[in-house]
Amino acid sequence: MIKVSNLTKYYVRNKALDNVSFSLKEGEILGFLGPNGAGKSTTMNIITGYLSSDSGDVEIDGINILENPTAAKKKIGYLPEVPPLYNDMTVKAYLEFIFRLKKVRLPMKEHINSICEKVRITDVRERLIKSLSKGYRQRVGLAQALIGDPPVLILDEPTVGLDPQQIIEIRRLIRELGKKHTIILSSHLLSEVQAVCDKILIINKGRIVADELTSSLTGTGSSTEKLRLIVEGRKQQVQSVLQKVDGVVKVTDMGEAEKGCCEFTVDSRRDVRRLIFRALAKTDFSILEMSPVEQSLEDTYLNIITGKNETKEEATDVSDI
Ligand code: ADP
Ligand code: MG
Repeated sequence: MIKVSNLTKYYVRNKALDNVSFSLKEGEILGFLGPNGAGKSTTMNIITGYLSSDSGDVEIDGINILENPTAAKKKIGYLPEVPPLYNDMTVKAYLEFIFRLKKVRLPMKEHINSICEKVRITDVRERLIKSLSKGYRQRVGLAQALIGDPPVLILDEPTVGLDPQQIIEIRRLIRELGKKHTIILSSHLLSEVQAVCDKILIINKGRIVADELTSSLTGTGSSTEKLRLIVEGRKQQVQSVLQKVDGVVKVTDMGEAEKGCCEFTVDSRRDVRRLIFRALAKTDFSILEMSPVEQSLEDTYLNIITGKNETKEEATDVSDI
């Protein structure tokens, strides 16, 4: 459905994309994962025809975006990093405006109504866009992308800036849309991509560094675990108890959480929650909080790139503390 071949893009002399290639079958949800500045938005802007590449090709459902941009763009719904919303329009007027702009041939009223139902904005249709919360604005952005019923959706960091409840709702919505659409979604959060996508593509400094099924990447990523811990007691002593727990690779002091309590993060090779509980139960120190920390993208792709050296380096870290 989407075929990207050897994209290279320079901004003046800065190489933003270096030979990026991947493809996506109909109905798949691809997570495009990478830190800020990796080249996610640049790639998405090229796929959607908003930006040209210096070399390489993009085909959407067999149509080349450079050779036939109008036909290719009709197949794509795009939610850019900053959605192109007009604050002084009502939701309804805005969606009608986009409908005309895209020259959609479906019956307007029914089409817009059904999209509003789908993204759950029916109750705010008459409101000015500027009066909406960030979560609702993002849904209006999604609605805009869905107008014309394109088979492909390109969503650039769709949950950035939303609160946890809104994030859950948008992710659920994307998964729902994934039943009918082929989707590329970018994110700098591994957890997000794990929650929503079938496939993950990791991009760093303009290059694809991993191209995997979500399940296999998760396997690699979770070879180290991280816990956040708040313990009542004296810092040095608590820390030395934690460091002795079997499987713990690194204990990082995060400062005083509240009076008399210290916060740590604990990296380990396996699930050490029970061992930590038992070790501290033998002392006078009380665990007030213990929770898993989401693996950051950096951790995971460091695992992928430098996995073999990590144990050694981290072991040195412990003795340094
Ligand atoms: P991401 O979306 O993954 O954060 P981008 O695609 O926005 O990354 O950026 C990739 C690289 O290209 C970065 O180094 C960024 O600074 C650079 N870049 C992006 N847009 C422009 C631009 N309009 N002009 C010059 N450099 C840019
Ligand atoms: Mg971006």
